[in-house]
Amino acid sequence: MTSAVYFDNNGTTALDPRVLQAMLPYLSQQQGNATSRHAFGRGARNAINQAREQVADAVGAHPSQVIFTGGGTEADNLAITGVANAQSTGRIAIGSLEHPAVSRAADALKWQGWKLAHIDSNTQGQVEASALRNVLQQRTDMVSVMLANNETGVIQDIATLGEIAREHGAYMHTDAVQALGKINVDFSALNVHAMSLSSHKIHGPQGAGALILDKRIDLRPLLYGGGQERALRSGSENIAAIVGFGLACQLASAEGQSRQQALSAMRGQLEQGLHALGATIFGASASRLPNTSFFAFDGIEGETLVMALDRQGFAVASGSACSSDSTEPSHVLLAMGVNPDLARGAIRVSLGQDNQPEQVAAFLLTLERELTRLRKLTAVAV
Ligand code: PLP
Repeated sequence: MTSAVYFDNNGTTALDPRVLQAMLPYLSQQQGNATSRHAFGRGARNAINQAREQVADAVGAHPSQVIFTGGGTEADNLAITGVANAQSTGRIAIGSLEHPAVSRAADALKWQGWKLAHIDSNTQGQVEASALRNVLQQRTDMVSVMLANNETGVIQDIATLGEIAREHGAYMHTDAVQALGKINVDFSALNVHAMSLSSHKIHGPQGAGALILDKRIDLRPLLYGGGQERALRSGSENIAAIVGFGLACQLASAEGQSRQQALSAMRGQLEQGLHALGATIFGASASRLPNTSFFAFDGIEGETLVMALDRQGFAVASGSACSSDSTEPSHVLLAMGVNPDLARGAIRVSLGQDNQPEQVAAFLLTLERELTRLRKLTAVAV
C-alpha cells in the first residue's frame, strides 16, 4: 500500500505473512466441506481441529471449549444473547466501558424483558471489586466485563471479578479480544464461564473468532442449521480463516514475550515524548496493554489531529464516535469522569509487531509540529 506508518493495531492488524501462507491452500485448492465424509471433507475437518487445538493451547483451554465464530462481535453476542435465550428474563450487569459488541447486545436484552445494570469504573478505567459487589446486591444472572479496554488498554482484574460473580451465582463473561496476544490470557485462571476472542487483532485474518465456553453452560445458538460447532454455530466453516486464526494464536503464544517487551519499550518511548509535549494520558496509573496509549492535548480536537497526522503519513485513531452531525466524546472516557472537552481531544496510538522505534521518534517530531501549527490556527481563529 502506502509508506504510511500504521499505529492503529487495536483497530486491526496486518496479516502475518506466515499466516497467509498457511491459509493459501484453503483458498486456492478444493478443500471440501468439513461436514463431508470423503477425504476432502476429512482434510478440512482435520485442519479445523488443529486450529481448535492451537487456539485452546494459546489461552489455557481445552479444545472442546472452543466454538469458532465469525469474529469477536459474534462471540460477544453468542456469550450474552445465547445465554439469555436459554432462560426467561433476568438481570445482566456489564462494565461501563464495554465495546458495543457487548453493550448493544446487553441493551437488546431489554426487549426480552431483561434488566440491565452498569458497573462503574474508577477514574483510571478500572472496575473495582466493590463496584461489582454493589451491583450484585440485587440478584443478577449474568455479568460481562472486558479483560482489556480497546481505547485505553486498561486491564481488569477479571480473576477477582469472576470470583465475586460466581459467589453470587452469576454467569461471567469476559471480552478478551484486545488482551489476546498482548498479555498472557489463561481461561482456566480467569474464573469466567465464557471468553471472546478475535483473530484480526493478532495478525490473523478478519472474520474469525471464538467463544471459549465452560461446557456446563446452557446456551442457545444465534444461528440454526447444519449443527456445526456443537450446534452452537451452524454454517459451513470458514476454513481458511479458522486455519489462519489457529496459526496466529500459536505464533502469538510462541513469540508473546518478545513481542510484549518490544511493544512496551516503544510505548515507553512514545509516552516519554507525549509527557514532554504536555499530553494527558488516560488510565496511565492503571495496568495497561503494552501497546496502547490514549491521550489528549488541551484545546485540540481529536478528529482534527487525526486528520492532520494522516496527511503526514501516520494512521492513528480518535476516541470519538461520529454521529450524523456531531462528534461525541468517547463513552469510555466519559465513564472515567474525564471532562468532555478534554475527551473530545482524545487520540489513540496502538502499536504492533511491525512498528519500529524510529517510527515512534518520527511520529513525536511530526506531532510536535502539527500541534504548533494547529495551536497557531486556533489562536488566529480566536
Ligand atoms: N471487542 C473488543 C474489545 C474489540 O476491540 C472489538 C473490535 O474492535 C470487538 C470486540 C469486535 O471484534 P470483531 O472485529 O472481530 O468483530
